[in-house]
Amino acid sequence: MKRIKTPLEQNGFQRYSSSEEIVHYLQTLAFAAGQFARLDCIGHSAQGREILALYCGDDSKNQRANRQKLRIMLAGSQHGASEAAGCEALLYLARAILTGELQQLLEHFEFIMIPNANPDGRERDSSKNGNDVNINRDFVLLSQPESCALDAAVLHYRPAVVLDLHESAVLKRKTLGLEGYLTDFEAQFDVASHPAISENLQNYAELQLLPALIAAVETRGLRAQRYIREITSTKQPVTHGDLTMRTFRNKAGLRGALAILLETPMEPKADPHPTFRNIAVRTEKQWCCLQALLQVLQPQQPAILSAIARAMQLPPQGNIALNGSYVPRNESPVTRINLRRRDTREIESIEFADHRAIAAHDFLQLPSAYIVHAHVEVFAELFERHRISFDKVTEPFETVLENDVFAYGDTPERALRVLDTSRDRAVVMSGHLYVPLLPDTARLLPLLLDPRSSSSVFQYPQFIQLIAADQPFFIARVADQDR
Ligand SMILES: [Zn+2]
Repeated sequence: MKRIKTPLEQNGFQRYSSSEEIVHYLQTLAFAAGQFARLDCIGHSAQGREILALYCGDDSKNQRANRQKLRIMLAGSQHGASEAAGCEALLYLARAILTGELQQLLEHFEFIMIPNANPDGRERDSSKNGNDVNINRDFVLLSQPESCALDAAVLHYRPAVVLDLHESAVLKRKTLGLEGYLTDFEAQFDVASHPAISENLQNYAELQLLPALIAAVETRGLRAQRYIREITSTKQPVTHGDLTMRTFRNKAGLRGALAILLETPMEPKADPHPTFRNIAVRTEKQWCCLQALLQVLQPQQPAILSAIARAMQLPPQGNIALNGSYVPRNESPVTRINLRRRDTREIESIEFADHRAIAAHDFLQLPSAYIVHAHVEVFAELFERHRISFDKVTEPFETVLENDVFAYGDTPERALRVLDTSRDRAVVMSGHLYVPLLPDTARLLPLLLDPRSSSSVFQYPQFIQLIAADQPFFIARVADQDR
C-alpha cells in the first residue's frame, strides 16, 4: 500500500500537525485500513474539539479463534503543543500498523491510539487545555472533559497496557537553567507506582518490564533510564514520578492496567535546529521507544495478563496504603547524575541525594462500603464522573459504622489528622449514598474519599471546606463483616 504521508511529513517538518489535520489523517488511515480500523470519538475538548481514538485490530474469524490478544492504549500529547512529538510518533505507528511494515503486529495486539489527547493545547500552543488546566493533574477531580474522556476510555476499552507519551525540555529557563545546567537524558520510563496498586503488578512492572524496556531502547541507540522527576535544582533530592492519583499513569494503574510513562527530551527553543523545534528528531526518539516497547511486550504477554488479572483482586490482607512518599535509599543515599553545562555544553557529573525508595503509609483496613451522609449531590456527581457504582438508600437500615473525627490547622493545605474514630451501630437514612467496594474500585475509592489520602478530593478547596473539624466526618465506613 502507498505510504500516506503524515501531516508533519507533508509540512516538511516545518510545523506541528494541527488538530484538524490529525483528524483528517486518522480518517484517511482508517478508511484505507478498512476492517482493521475504526475511529471512535471518546469526547470533546473544553473548546469543543473532537478527541478521537483509533482502534486497530483484526477481528476476522481465524484471528478471533486465536489466543487472547494484548490490548494496548497509547495516549499522545496530553501536554498539547508543548509536547507535540508523542502525537506525531503515534501517527507513524498507526500508519505502520494499518498500512505498512508493522501489520503483522495485529496478530498479537489490539491498539487504541489517542494521538491528540489535548487538541486545545495543540491549537493554543500550550501544555494546558482550553480551560487552562493541566489535564495530567486532574484525574482525581476529573473536572475537565479531556481527563474524563481518557479515564472513561480506560474503563471502556479495558486495555492491559497503557502508555502515556510525554516530553521534557532540557533547558528549564526559570530553574535549573539559572544554575547554568541543562538536563541530559534521551529516554526515560516510569510505571504506575502508587503503593495501593497491586504489589504483583508493581513488581512485574519494575523488575521485569522496565529493565527489558530500557535494554531494548538502548539496543536501538538511545540512552534510556527509569524516570527521574524533573530536576529543577542541583540541591534537590532525586525521585521518580508523581505518587498520587492525579496523573493519568497512576489512575490507569489503580484501574488495573499496566501503566507506563515515556518521556523524551526537547532541545532549547532558541537553539538552531535542523527542523522546527527539532521536531523531526524528537518524533524519531518517541518512535524508537514505541517500537522498543512493542518488541518487549510481545513475548511478555502471558506474564502481563497474569499480573493484571491479579491486580483486580482485593488486596490479600484487606488493607491498602493511602499514601506513599519518596525516602532516602538505605543502600545508596547519594547518586551521581550527568548534567550539561549551559555555556560549554560539557557534561558534568553532579551528586544528588537519592530519594528513590518509596515508603507506604497511612494503611486502611478496607470497609465493605462507604456511606455518604451529606453533600450527596456533589458526591453522586463525583461518582458518576469516576464511573463508581452507588445506590441512593431508599429504606433505612442499621449497620456498624466507623466514623473519623478530623482536626486541621489553619494553612490552606491544612494537614488533616484523625482525632478520634468511633465504631457504633447506626441507622443509615434514606437519601444517603451507599457506595460498595467492588473489586474494580476497591483500591481507588478509599484514595478518593479518605481525607488523609494525598489523592483524595479533600486536597481541593471546594471539598475540604465541606469537612467540619471536631465533628464526625460525613463519610462513614461500613464495618459489618457481611461482605
Ligand atoms: Zn508532559
